[in-house]
Amino acid sequence: MIGLIDIGGTKLLASVTGEDGRPGPHIVRPTPREGDPIETLAGMLDDVRDGRPLDAIAMAVPGPFDRGVPALINPPGMSPAWHGADFRSGLGQRFGCSVVAENDANCAALAEAHFGAGRGFGTVVYYTVSTGIGTGVVIGGTLLVSRHDNEGGHQVLWPKHLGGPACDCGGHGCLETLASGRAIVRRFGKRGEELDDDAAWDEIGTWLGLAVVNSTALLDADVVVFGGGVINQWRRLEKALRRTVAASLFLQPAPAIKVAELGVDRNVWGALTLVPGAVGAAAG
Ligand SMILES: [Zn+2]
Repeated sequence: MIGLIDIGGTKLLASVTGEDGRPGPHIVRPTPREGDPIETLAGMLDDVRDGRPLDAIAMAVPGPFDRGVPALINPPGMSPAWHGADFRSGLGQRFGCSVVAENDANCAALAEAHFGAGRGFGTVVYYTVSTGIGTGVVIGGTLLVSRHDNEGGHQVLWPKHLGGPACDCGGHGCLETLASGRAIVRRFGKRGEELDDDAAWDEIGTWLGLAVVNSTALLDADVVVFGGGVINQWRRLEKALRRTVAASLFLQPAPAIKVAELGVDRNVWGALTLVPGAVGAAAG
């Protein structure tokens, strides 16, 4: 049985795998601002494991994090109590098992590549279009990990010298400052679910279409999968997105473009794939 945890800025999710090797029912609690994070997470695992031993713990964590420990570094929006907590020694010793962790955007990409909209495709590029924009790349089932985290939300589409708006990262004209949930509020004065403006959605779809184009140029993606809250408005932005891709790609065939399929426990499905042998077990 594998213990599964997803750490978010506002909520924590925990689950364990069932006899079929797949994540079972999950519990969700608000992320506390204070207290020992190890105790908080151990308490949730105790509540879902029901006295049974854990063979491993797999975690989805907010970036940036230190893969070596693993530990959170200073994720935006999380209280300092969470910074630097050593999950491997903290939870690993407590439950007598190994601990693996990956950032949440990468976990989402792994989940969709193995169990969702990216199933059966070779190179899967995943975009979380939520408050911010995160990306993950899975090639042949394996996560692409380089020196640092990839930051597809901060690919520059509208340079500063051409008037690109400032981004929270310090740059200008990044995808995230043009098409994220936060950007929609800032640029159009309304949250995505309240925005009834065809021209605005055309623009958002166009920026996301350019992200598909860039991803394909660099990675020759077989499929680009979009998830996250903004994508609930897919029918409003899809046309402009696909039109942009069709008008911009000439040397490569367009990738498949799909909406993510998994639910709120997507990140723990992805974390599960980090445990050796777990993918085969869950796929049955
Ligand atoms: Zn940026």
